[in-house]
Amino acid sequence: MSDYIAHNINIIRQNLPDNVQLVCVSKYYPVEAIRQAYDAGERNFGESRLQELKQKAAVLPPDIKWHFIGHLQRNKVRDVVGLAYLIHSVDSLRLIEAIERVAAEKNIVQKCLLEIHIAQEQTKSGFTPHEFAELIRTTDFSHFSHVEICGLMGMASNTDNQEQIRQDFSLLKSLATLSGLKTLSMGMSDDYRIAIEQGSTMVRIGSAIFED
Ligand SMILES: *Cc1c(COP(=O)(O)O)cnc(C)c1O
Repeated sequence: MSDYIAHNINIIRQNLPDNVQLVCVSKYYPVEAIRQAYDAGERNFGESRLQELKQKAAVLPPDIKWHFIGHLQRNKVRDVVGLAYLIHSVDSLRLIEAIERVAAEKNIVQKCLLEIHIAQEQTKSGFTPHEFAELIRTTDFSHFSHVEICGLMGMASNTDNQEQIRQDFSLLKSLATLSGLKTLSMGMSDDYRIAIEQGSTMVRIGSAIFED
């Protein structure tokens, strides 16, 4: 069997400072591919669909930390809470409240990131920077004793313009600094080096790992 996955992971590791966590984005890739990354030492994997996450988690080792990175509908919260180590894509107060209710029933604390819309295009979800500022001004997060807001997640504009991407990440970093949140999930296969330069603590990388 070809070992390009382990090879790709080694290349990425050489580019990651010690304080940056790699999340291998395994959505759309088969269980065998995940197992190769696991055998290369990776334990953090990202999925964006509940059904796929459930199917993979059922057959893969229990020490994997699953990251939920896709849009999360409130009717899926019950299944995702507890199964996901970290939910990256929390994009409304109602969703936080729904996660709080389910996590309280399950008697766990669910780690979450707030997704912020930093890209130029309109298609991506998340709080706008303005909505985020309002949210932290008006919400007492200590009321949510079963939700731990660890940080922020964002995706840069879908462009070749490196300067635009740098600006997007810089904005997200400044929001994290302002709010005192530590985890900063930003950077994908094509832009993770810029994200790290701008202060990312967690990169979500799929194709650069799982494509030959
Ligand atoms: C698919 C996906 C990634 C990984 O993208 P690549 O370009 O394959 O590295 C990262 N973050 C999110 C939210 C994704 O949906």
